[in-house]
Amino acid sequence: MKQHHLNTIMVAGLLAIAFALPLVVRSATYLHILVLLFFYAYLTTSWNIVGGFAGVLPLGHALFVGIGAYTAAYLATTSGVSPGLTLLLGVALAVVGALVLGVITLRMSGHYLPLATIAWGLALNYTMANMEWLGKYDGILGIPSMTLLGVDLGTGRGLHPLVWAIALLAALAALRLLDSRPGRAIRALKNGSMMAEAMGISTFRYKLTVFVMAAMLAAVSGWLFAHFQRSVSPSPFGINKGIEYLFMAVLGGVGHVWGAFLGSAVVRLVEDKLQVLLPQLIGTSGNFETIVFGIVLVVVLKYAPDGLWSFVGRWRPAPPRVRDWEGAPALPQRAKPARGERLLEVDAVRKQFGGLVAVNDVSFELHSGDIVALIGPNGAGKSTTFNLITGVLALSGGAVRWRGQAIGGLPSRAIARLGISRTFQHVKMIPEMTVLENVALGGYGRTKAGVLQAVLRLDRAEERQLFAEAERQLARIGMAGQMHELAGNLPLGPQRLMEIARALATDPALLLLDEPAAGLRHHEKQALASVLRQLKAEGMSLLLVEHDMDFVMGLADRVVVMEFGIKLVEGTPAEVQASPEVRAAYLGTEH
Ligand code: ADP
Ligand code: MG
Repeated sequence: MKQHHLNTIMVAGLLAIAFALPLVVRSATYLHILVLLFFYAYLTTSWNIVGGFAGVLPLGHALFVGIGAYTAAYLATTSGVSPGLTLLLGVALAVVGALVLGVITLRMSGHYLPLATIAWGLALNYTMANMEWLGKYDGILGIPSMTLLGVDLGTGRGLHPLVWAIALLAALAALRLLDSRPGRAIRALKNGSMMAEAMGISTFRYKLTVFVMAAMLAAVSGWLFAHFQRSVSPSPFGINKGIEYLFMAVLGGVGHVWGAFLGSAVVRLVEDKLQVLLPQLIGTSGNFETIVFGIVLVVVLKYAPDGLWSFVGRWRPAPPRVRDWEGAPALPQRAKPARGERLLEVDAVRKQFGGLVAVNDVSFELHSGDIVALIGPNGAGKSTTFNLITGVLALSGGAVRWRGQAIGGLPSRAIARLGISRTFQHVKMIPEMTVLENVALGGYGRTKAGVLQAVLRLDRAEERQLFAEAERQLARIGMAGQMHELAGNLPLGPQRLMEIARALATDPALLLLDEPAAGLRHHEKQALASVLRQLKAEGMSLLLVEHDMDFVMGLADRVVVMEFGIKLVEGTPAEVQASPEVRAAYLGTEH
């Protein structure tokens, strides 16, 4: 059975239980615990979408819960607005807030982003706590309970199915999203933006999308919270709560949908017990459970960095993707340039890093159907030249033209969409996805499905096309047999080939490979060379950055040799090999 059918059945089963439990369970206390479990699972899921899937740590996330809660509380108590309307307004406010904060902070990189989320989380929490009209530190009391179709949703019996349903639907949406075109783009954000951008993905747009989605889910939970708590105050929406979501997600398994459920269940259940037990053991009252959780977090991060859910994964690994794309129509292809057409003109390109001229007015051309190799000792400026062509680095001078059009200054995703695709000197992939899914990432720019189509599963026909294309490209380089393996489990050689298949899935007119033979064994190098020869025979044009001179000699039509940022010589492999300057350059630095 297909994985996504299993997920749907699981969600439907749990939903049925959600509706049945209040009829069976007599104790209101137990029902309340179950409500809280799913409430926190839902909150952790909303955190997980940004923090786990996209790897953007939103430590101020509880703020959006506060927005939903305060909107509901304020409007219900002051003007008697109905819960349905306060829900819509709270979500709308959270969206506006997330857009404003996201546009300002999401361009930040590294640890600046989580720090910025802490900053606005703190700032807005203090603002909430000092507003006269929001009741300052006391908050807002006396929120009326909700009724829906005559059922009182303020008590365990009515609330229970509602909270479970919201949590389970969020989980289903998250699961569907993960297994889709936008979901793979979101997962690619985790390892920096360079690879995703090279596949034509706007990383900023996706960061903003997940940020807004998570804020919407959080606002819904705030609305729920206000109605079952019947009061709101600033403290549950502070920065410590954001850290608590992080803790539950990490414990369960960051990025696993059911991991968030497991993590929050464990934390909630254990926390209740510890709050009673620890003060008795120690003899004084206090929040000692925080200390225990701190220790547990360190132990989990050390011994089970993938969280508790990874044990479930080991015990019951996910079944391989069902091969349902046989006969799917091919994705559209771009018109390929005629053989011999001048494709790429590198015209006196220059790159300065402070005082260092890494690339010093280098020029060369590449014609359709040719393999051009850029060689030179380490530090010669090859990768920098490569990054100037692909738009990863901005030019300090000179021009790059693609089929006559100047492409200097374009972002790398725009250059990728023009038909220039690349691999990386250090393999960049999503290790926890299969080879096939990694290669499907290459087809991103040739497909259209967005988040909404993914969540509603309206993207399945396009997904079949995408996986058919990914398998075709893997077959082209001789790796179709490994398509269901996890990319992170492959040795370096096949990983490099997988990157080539991913680049091919973008339907490029020019393929740029940065040191494809680095770190490969002798027989892997030979396999790679024969793949590249075959691509050339099929009409592909290649620009190859290579450190290993012998590797390119039997392969390239033209060779450009660089040293200290300058173009030393250019010519056929034979001419270059005979050049005394090249020998000197290689002998001078190789030892
Ligand atoms: P190659 O790929 O030929 O080994 P690179 O293009 O990576 O060489 O590097 C060329 C020179 O530019 C090296 O001296 C390197 O240290 C320097 N360099 C590369 N990238 C940067 C950077 N982002 N900032 C500063 N210096 C850099
Ligand atoms: Mg390099």
